[in-house]
Amino acid sequence: MSQYDYDLFTIGGGSGGVRAARFAGQAGARVGLAEKGDLGGTCVNVGCIPKKLMSYSAHFHEDFADAAGYGWTLNGQPSFDWSTLIANKDREIAHLNDIYQRLLDGANVSLHRGFAKVEDAHTVNVDGQRFTARHILVATGGRPEKPDVPGRELGITSDDFFHLKALPKRTVVLGGGYIAVELASILNGLGSEVTLVYRRERLLRNMDADLGVHLADEMAKQGIRLVFNASIESIESIEAAQASEDSVKNVRLTNGEVLQAECILFATGRTPNTAGLGLEQAGVVLERNGAVQVNGDFESSVPSILAVGDVIDRVALTPVALAEAMVVVARLFGRGERRMSYANIPTAVFSHPNIGTVGLSEEEARKEVGEVKIFKTDFKPLKNTLSRNTGRTFMKLVVDAGSDRVLGVHMVGSDAGEVIQGFAVALQCGATKAQFDATIGIHPTSAEEFVTLRTPVA
Ligand SMILES: Cc1cc2nc3c(=O)[nH]c(=O)nc-3n(C[C@H](O)[C@H](O)[C@H](O)COP(=O)(O)OP(=O)(O)OC[C@H]3O[C@@H](n4cnc5c(N)ncnc54)[C@H](O)[C@@H]3O)c2cc1C
Repeated sequence: MSQYDYDLFTIGGGSGGVRAARFAGQAGARVGLAEKGDLGGTCVNVGCIPKKLMSYSAHFHEDFADAAGYGWTLNGQPSFDWSTLIANKDREIAHLNDIYQRLLDGANVSLHRGFAKVEDAHTVNVDGQRFTARHILVATGGRPEKPDVPGRELGITSDDFFHLKALPKRTVVLGGGYIAVELASILNGLGSEVTLVYRRERLLRNMDADLGVHLADEMAKQGIRLVFNASIESIESIEAAQASEDSVKNVRLTNGEVLQAECILFATGRTPNTAGLGLEQAGVVLERNGAVQVNGDFESSVPSILAVGDVIDRVALTPVALAEAMVVVARLFGRGERRMSYANIPTAVFSHPNIGTVGLSEEEARKEVGEVKIFKTDFKPLKNTLSRNTGRTFMKLVVDAGSDRVLGVHMVGSDAGEVIQGFAVALQCGATKAQFDATIGIHPTSAEEFVTLRTPVA
C-alpha cells in the first residue's frame, strides 16, 4: 500500500491538467484533480473555443458583402442577434465541459471540485479536504490583468467579453497582442464601432514585423480605428447613475484624445495563477511575475511539485500545455525520457484576416544565422476579385542563405492557420527552399504561392 492517497494530484482542470491526469490515469496511476471552475480551463471556457466560434460568426458580415459579386441577393438586410450567438456558444461549451468530465471518468481520475492549495511537498488541501500525493502538478493557468489606470473597474477583460449581455455599440480595445486583435476583429465584424489603442507603433510585436504592419492595414480597411503610441490614461462614467455594462464612458488617452464608448476591453496581458496557492510557503521558487520556475523536466525547486502550461509562462498556447503535460506523464509514469522542444511551434491569430506563422521572424533569423534570403508576396486573392473585396493576402519566407533551410513561413490571409499547419511539418523536417521549389502547387489556391516564390526581395 502506497504511503500517499494519489500517485499524481493535478491542480487545475484546463488543457495541461486534464491532459496529464488523463494519460497518467490511463497508464495506471492513481490520479486526483482539483478544479475550482469549469472543466476545460481557459481554452474551452474563455479562450480558443468561444473565440473561434465568435470569429466564425463575425466572418459572416464579410461573407454577406462578398456574396453580391457572386450573384447572390439577400432579401432585406442581414441582421445579427447577440443573445442567440451567446446562447448557442454556451451550449456548445457546456457540451465540451461534459466531454472533459467523461474523459476524466474514463481514465479513473478522481475529480475534486474546489480551490486547491499546496500545504507541503506532498499535500494538497481542496476547500478543507486534505490529500497526499507522490507528485503534485500545478496547472493553474493564468488570468487577465487590468492596467492600473483610474476607472479600471469600468473596463472588462477577455473573461468578461464572452459573457457580455449585449453587443456594445462602441468599444475601445486596449492592447496590440493576439487577444486584442482577435477580439477587436470579432466586435467589428459583429457591428460594434471599434477603436484599438496600443502603446507601441506596431501590432503583434512578438511576430515578424511585416505581419503586424499588414494586419493593421487590413483591419483599418475593415473599419477598425487604430491609435498607436497611446494608452488609456483614465476612464470615467459620464452618466450620473451607476455605470452599467451598456452605459457610456469617457476614455481619456495619453495623447490627449477623449473617446466615448460603452465597452472598454483591456487585452493587456496575463499573469500566472499562483496567488493563494501556498507554493512559496512550500518552498517553490516563483519568478517575479508569479510564474512557477521549473527545470527541463518541469520540476519546481521542490522536485515533487511540477508545473506545466501558462503557469510557467513559457509559450501560452493550448498545444504547448498539452505537449508539456505529455512530457511529464512520460517521465513519471511511462517509459523513456521525453523532452519538450519549443522550436517551430506554429501558431495562428484569428484576427480578420487570420495570421499563420511558424519558425523564425526575419529579425530573429538575422540574429541567429546572419545572412538570410527573404521572399515575399502581397496579392489580391482570387475570391476577392468578383466580390471587389479590397482585402489582400501577404506571405513571407525566411531562408538561411548558407544552408538553404527555410527558417520561417508567415502569412496574413484567409485560413492562414489551416495553411501554416502543413508548412510547420516541412520546417520540422528541415525543408530547404529548393525542396519548397520542387513541390508542385495546388492550383488555384493562395497556399500555392509558398512554393512558387522565386525571387528574393532581400
Ligand atoms: C482569449 C484567449 C484566447 C486564446 N486563444 C488561443 C488559441 O486560439 N489557441 C491556443 O493554442 N491558445 C489560446 N489561448 C491560450 C490557451 O487558452 C492557454 O494557453 C491554455 O488554456 C493553457 O492551459 P493551462 O492548462 O495552462 O491553463 P488553463 O486552461 O487556464 O487551466 C487552468 C485551470 O486551473 C484552474 N485553477 C486555477 N487555480 C486553481 C486552484 N487553486 N484550484 C483549483 N483549480 C484552479 C482554473 O479554473 C482553470 O480551469 C487563448 C487564451 C485566451 C485568454
